[in-house]
Parts: sequence; C-alpha cells; structure tokens
Amino acid sequence: MVPGGRLVVLGKQGAGKGTQCVRLSHHYVIPHIATGDMLRAAVKGHTQLGLEAKAYMDAGELIPDEIVLAMVGERLDQDDIRSRGFVLDGFPRTVAQAQGLDELLKPSELDLAINIEVPTEVVLRRIASRRICEDCGTIYSVELPPAVDWICDLCGGEVVQREDDTEDAIRRRLDLYESETAPLISWYDETGKLVRIPGVGSPDDVFDQMVAEIDSRRQSGGFGPPIGAEGGWR
Ligand code: ADP
Ligand code: ZN
Repeated sequence: MVPGGRLVVLGKQGAGKGTQCVRLSHHYVIPHIATGDMLRAAVKGHTQLGLEAKAYMDAGELIPDEIVLAMVGERLDQDDIRSRGFVLDGFPRTVAQAQGLDELLKPSELDLAINIEVPTEVVLRRIASRRICEDCGTIYSVELPPAVDWICDLCGGEVVQREDDTEDAIRRRLDLYESETAPLISWYDETGKLVRIPGVGSPDDVFDQMVAEIDSRRQSGGFGPPIGAEGGWR
C-alpha cells in the first residue's frame, strides 16, 4: 500500500510547482489541488466564482483570502482527500490562508511544506517561454512543446500562453510573492515542517530530491494519520 500525505508546495511563479506537484500526485497517489487551475476552470466555465476572480487574475492580483479559503475548504472536504491527503499547489499564498488551512485540517495537521527555490532571473526566463493546455492545464514550454503543432499530448486541447503571463502581471505576481507568500517560508520553518529543495536542476533531479526528503521525513515519523480517521492511511 502507498501511504498518503498532506503536502504544501511553495515556490515563486515559474519555480516548477505545477510540474512537480503533478508528479508527486501520481507517485504517492494523492489528489493534486492547484488553486490557479481551479480558478482558471471557473473563469472558463463562467461560474459566479469565475466572474469574481477574472479581473484579479488578469491583473496578477491575489483573490481575496475568504474566497480562496471557501473554495479550498469545499475541496478538502471530499472523500478522496479525507482518505489520501493532498498536494496543495499555489495555496496557501498569505499567512491568513496558512492559518485558515490549519483550521480546516483540525484535528489533523499538515505533514510537510516543500519550498522549491529558484532565482528570479531564472523564473522570468521560464515564464516567458511557458505555455499551458487550455483544457487540462498541462504545462509545456517553447523549448519542450507538445509533439504536434501546439495540440496537448495528453488531451488534444489547445496549448497557449496564459493570459496573465504578460510582463506587468508577472511583475505584480512576483512582487506579491515576496510580500505575501515568502513570509510563509519562515512561518513553516518555525513549526519544523519546512523542506528546501533547489529547483534549478532538471525536472527529474528536482523530483528525486523531493521524494527522498518526503520518504525520509515519513520514516522518521513526521507524517500523521489521515484527516478525521483513526490509525494509519487506509
Ligand atoms: P502563478 O503561480 O504563476 O501566479 P497560479 O496558476 O498559481 O499561477 O495562479 C494564477 C492566479 O490565480 C494568481 O495570480 C491569483 O490571481 C489567483 N490565485 C491562485 N491561487 C491563489 C491563492 N491561493 N490566493 C489568491 N489568489 C490565488
Ligand atoms: Zn491537455
């Protein structure tokens, strides 16, 4: 049996969170919760949430904490998460969101927060060449495009540049990362839950280092039982 886990992955825009979270989700059979993907799906589906979120997203601003917390809270309550845990991608992004997450998880706790560290010059270059499948969110780049003519290898959707990957919106998101999200690194460090991973190697290297850290933390007893369940992972 593969044991589950409750993981948060932190890192600047373009640090490789999305790519690594998909891999972690497959490797440990844990649901991947990407708030950016959920919000983009809401915008595309013209839901009430999408209508509220679109202007913030296009400008690179953060969606208000209450809205994001309600969206994540609803997702965390579902059965797959209760039995397997989660890998959270793009959330929490403010100290208020991290505190809200702690409340949502009670009486359990987060197992680990992983920070993927990449210098700003590198992420700027990566975001400029980043492309995304409009339908399933798979990430490509100009250097590593889909096999055929910007059609997603996985779902056949159209692979495009994200609407908020403009110079102004990227600058704003990176500023907000420094002011709102970077403080979470010391916040998690103080509770002993932080792991730092250099994100400049190949995607395989970064992934192998993450798995090594997660497995060693688990072996040393750093992981709790599933949310709301007695004993170990089902
Ligand atoms: P990036 O990491 O490149 O900013 P994401 O896909 O994670 O991209 O997020 C895209 C946008 O969605 C953000 O700029 C923001 O407007 C919104 N968003 C996503 N997650 C959150 C969050 N946890 N809190 C507030 N806004 C969020
Ligand atoms: Zn796709």
